[in-house]
Amino acid sequence: MKQATRLVHAGRKPADHYGMVNTPVYHASTVLFDSLADFDASQADPFSGVHYGRLGTPTQFAFESAVAEVEGAHGAVSTCSGLAAIATALLAVAGAGDHLLVADNVYGPTRKFCDGLLARLGVETEYVDPLISADELDRRFRDNTRALFLEAPGSLTFEISDVPALAAVARERDVSVIADNTWGTPIYFDAFAHGIDLSVHAATKYIVGHSDAMLGVVNCREAAHYRAVRHTSIALGYCAGPDDVYLGARGLRTLGQRLPVHEANGLALANWLAEQPGVTRVLHPARADHPQHHLWRRDFTGACGLFAVELAPGERRQLAALIDGLAFYGLGASWGGYESLVLPVDPAGSRSATRWQADGPLLRIHAGLEDIADLIDDMAAGLARYSAA
Ligand SMILES: *Cc1c(COP(=O)(O)O)cnc(C)c1O
Repeated sequence: MKQATRLVHAGRKPADHYGMVNTPVYHASTVLFDSLADFDASQADPFSGVHYGRLGTPTQFAFESAVAEVEGAHGAVSTCSGLAAIATALLAVAGAGDHLLVADNVYGPTRKFCDGLLARLGVETEYVDPLISADELDRRFRDNTRALFLEAPGSLTFEISDVPALAAVARERDVSVIADNTWGTPIYFDAFAHGIDLSVHAATKYIVGHSDAMLGVVNCREAAHYRAVRHTSIALGYCAGPDDVYLGARGLRTLGQRLPVHEANGLALANWLAEQPGVTRVLHPARADHPQHHLWRRDFTGACGLFAVELAPGERRQLAALIDGLAFYGLGASWGGYESLVLPVDPAGSRSATRWQADGPLLRIHAGLEDIADLIDDMAAGLARYSAA
């Protein structure tokens, strides 16, 4: 089965639901048993089957089996947000007295989770340069190192780690390798072929694809990790909302059709921006001038619509003039929906192992599904306002 076909057919069971194409939305807390014998049987394995709303519904299992099949995972565990998926993955592998190696470019709330809650629970996090060599990384492992957490590319600064090389040294030491694969998506970065054990997605982004649900998923390469992640998620009381997980399953069906448009629009916009005098630098892995472009070419099969530009040095009011007058780009967090977005970001404050250096403000851009000519015209007017203000 080719990927496009898999995206359409993975995890579907119409015969179980009166022939409905999509597994319907099951809202449930109580699940009734036919007999005491049925109840007793359910207690033998409470982590599989439909026994209680929090432990999983057919809607949830439909999403999980589809997304696991698409990425080639042994199993998937869905959660109520992307951050919950990150927390679940980390708590599944680390406990008091353990040590984690985390790339310095990770999503801000991931860092806050490590430095806050995990530190309080006695887990020590050491940050490493995402561009660290395998040899250097090898020297950072300790006897109590339990996980290496990567995000390639980082969602503000877009560095790409040499994932297979770093994952290989971690695996040699029996250290679990977790990746936040939200940018790569289940179809543009084959996490398991590149040495990842736990591929975490903010499904809130491209999988849902319409900016209208919060959802996370941990795709697990092996059964042992899958069990640990499932048990951890259940212990935490995490469960994805029925409507949200339904929207995730529905969004997955068109992922393969939407992403190429995000990619084409993002790259066209990035290439045009690179020629503009108000732009100092474009951070887009699919452009030849990206410092790790060779790694993107080697390891990824596509790019999503998220990238960043460093503008010429300017004041906050110039940035306000650019952003406030935009017609088609919203100002807001998150990405992966059908609409274009901008967000001014300052990575300097969320780094400890590396230093973020830029003279001008960094503007993160999400290229949506609009017509590229409109996106370029709108941004051209914005850049003109930036330099005039
Ligand atoms: C948005 C995001 C998350 C968190 O997802 P939520 O669903 O918002 O909790 C995690 N990682 C990356 C890279 C993100 O962009």
